[in-house]
Amino acid sequence: MSSKIPPAPTDAASRRAAKPAIVYPAGTMPRPDLAALEQARSTMVKTHELIVPPRDARTFRVSRGQFFRIVGIEGPQVGDLNLWNADDLSERFFSGKTRAIHGTHVGVGDRLWSNMPYLRPMATISHDTLGWYGFDADGAGIHDVIGTRCDPYTNLMLNGGSYDFCCHSNLSRALATELKMEPRAVEHHVHDVLNVFMCTGFTQDTHQYFMKASPVRPGDFIEFFAEIDLLGALSACPGGDCSATHSSDAAACHPLKIEVFEPDRATLTGWTWPAPSAYHRHHGVHAGI
Ligand SMILES: [Zn+2]
Repeated sequence: MSSKIPPAPTDAASRRAAKPAIVYPAGTMPRPDLAALEQARSTMVKTHELIVPPRDARTFRVSRGQFFRIVGIEGPQVGDLNLWNADDLSERFFSGKTRAIHGTHVGVGDRLWSNMPYLRPMATISHDTLGWYGFDADGAGIHDVIGTRCDPYTNLMLNGGSYDFCCHSNLSRALATELKMEPRAVEHHVHDVLNVFMCTGFTQDTHQYFMKASPVRPGDFIEFFAEIDLLGALSACPGGDCSATHSSDAAACHPLKIEVFEPDRATLTGWTWPAPSAYHRHHGVHAGI
């Protein structure tokens, strides 16, 4: 922090006493019909599953109306999730707006929103075995949309050396395999993640982003309902449980499992599938000008 802190004005106390206003208050956002999702869940059967090896990533496809789970299987492990519209990679998960709408950490009933100009729910969280955790005494919670993903560029800047198995590289490799291209040709599609199972917060004194050992255990899972056809990619972070380090081979790492489920479609006949935003996109410039 700068040592040149300017003197506070005489009315500093009253300026600081302004009342907070929730930017996107609960109740003003469209809420999912969780009862309908529960009914659909009760009919679902697993159609396939895949394993994401440690310090690596895999892609997967989920059709609109299917559910998918990310499951801890062998030990505490954090996952970094990217989502795209399966038919158009320019529509992708928008971590920042999801954070602004739902808060720093997401749970059941929260949506994963897509970027502008689409801005619609890509997936809705339908179950979370770590929902009991809440916020702990350090102010930490689970499944954050604060962090971006570990990456070789920041690692090179801060630590020197090139580490090739950060989540950014893992996701780039997996997407490159999916698209039959080179990682450097697709890495611009990789975006800020949902930090699945990661336990994070901001320090009370300096408000810096911190992580602590994830409470996830084998058998824990977070489950999503696909609101559109999705291409997903999941990295098993080289930080393992993210208790101490990442961007290296130092931490103990474990695989993650992805499971996809098909429900009885008759349970979803009343579901409203989200369309891209209806905003006209004139941005103040009107036709004929
Ligand atoms: Zn990572």
